[in-house]
Amino acid sequence: MIQSPDLPNRSLALDRLIGAIEAARRRATRVSVLFIDVDHFKKINDTLGHAAGDRFLRQVAQRLKSSIRQMDTVARLGGDEFVVLLNDVRLRRDAEAVAAKIVDACARPFMLDGQEAFVTLSIGVASFPEDGEDAETLLRHADAAMYVGKENGRSQVRFFTPELRQRTRNRVRLEVDLRHAIERQELVLHYQPLIDIRSGDIVGAEALLRWFSSEHGMMNPDQFVRLAEETGLIVSIGEWALITGCRETRRWIDAGFNGLSLSVNVSSRQFRDASLASSIHAALRDNRLDPRTLELEITESLLLEDSAEIKTTIDRLVGDGVRLAIDDFGTGYASLSYLNRFRLDTLKIDRSFTTGMLADTAQSTLVDALIVLAHRLGLRVVAEGVETADQLDFLRSRGCDVAQGFFFSTPIAADDFLQMLEHIRPPAAAAC
Ligand code: C2E
Ligand code: CA
Ligand code: CA
Repeated sequence: MIQSPDLPNRSLALDRLIGAIEAARRRATRVSVLFIDVDHFKKINDTLGHAAGDRFLRQVAQRLKSSIRQMDTVARLGGDEFVVLLNDVRLRRDAEAVAAKIVDACARPFMLDGQEAFVTLSIGVASFPEDGEDAETLLRHADAAMYVGKENGRSQVRFFTPELRQRTRNRVRLEVDLRHAIERQELVLHYQPLIDIRSGDIVGAEALLRWFSSEHGMMNPDQFVRLAEETGLIVSIGEWALITGCRETRRWIDAGFNGLSLSVNVSSRQFRDASLASSIHAALRDNRLDPRTLELEITESLLLEDSAEIKTTIDRLVGDGVRLAIDDFGTGYASLSYLNRFRLDTLKIDRSFTTGMLADTAQSTLVDALIVLAHRLGLRVVAEGVETADQLDFLRSRGCDVAQGFFFSTPIAADDFLQMLEHIRPPAAAAC
């Protein structure tokens, strides 16, 4: 991590906050906590390098300091996260004014290596006593408020609200239940067929998580994968998905359906766990699968990770034959040059392009160009979110290889997927 010796760290910030809360209790005033995150800091790090990123964060710290009074504190929590503690606040308006001052101070361009860089901030505010009685709670609530701003388009100042309090409580409950989901056998994989556009054959399936929770009902990944990533639970859930998917693929082969590929989504967080490669190998070995059967779907954010360990893990898996797909392509911030970082096999065009391409010529031009680019790089192209025959026709006319979407099938339970295979291609014929 980039060091910032001139700013207090998390534990010192907590100490100061505890002191400030005690003082505010005695004097019947408030303490406000501003949780500050630099939007898209990664972009600066990636384009200008870590040293420039470090200098940039120091400049941010400087501007934060110049926006507050002597008696207040700026601390660095790690990464691009800062916290500002405002002592002796009388009115909510006062914290609002400081947040506005900070936003203004950071709206001016930053000079980095002779270049101007512009950034925005996401700020969450929580105040003692109304938003929390102790330091940890206040910090967590300011963080939660900041997060809502991030979710709603970044570059915002958000205050903690009673509704958010309910949300954080629900989140804690959800986290506890998710911890038990595997052992309670509440997780299920559904499979969505991948269709070869030229032949119309099913050539594989993408495994998609579902959580049938006794407490919360049926949950789609959008409702729990992010939480699983933030808590690290995705490591065990992801391992479960790889093992379960491989076991299912063995069932397809045993039923006479050879040559189908299995696509499994793997979060960046899973690659930071040293055991990923060995658990994938074990799942393949235990189910007697050729490594080429398995395709790992990774996102652009993983391409941006500048970590030797992650690169070694991926290179090792790819070296053994496991295939690699770049998922949701075009939605992240990776530059095209990142496509050469790993030995990719497949590029998946994000659903938003497929959805918009027939109504919008700019979108269709992009899809067209993506297919050409991917083919030039020797990649297979999968279009996600195909819902109509017209979309399929367009993709076919542009030479797209594989389609996936509700036009063919929604993701379905394992037994239903096997039935679909048997219906389309009886196993006897498949064996010929
Ligand atoms: P994704 O990898 O982009 O998966 C495709 C999503 O698009 C699935 O949503 C699928 O149901 C949906 N979809 C497929 N065809 C169509 C279509 O024609 N129209 C529309 N509107 N949607 C379509 P789902 O199953 O809710 O999954 C959401 C995301 O959750 C996935 O997006 C993936 O990023 C993540 N996810 C799912 N399973 C796993 C997993 O096992 N591990 C990890 N790390 N992430 C997972
Ligand atoms: Ca995917
Ligand atoms: Ca996708």
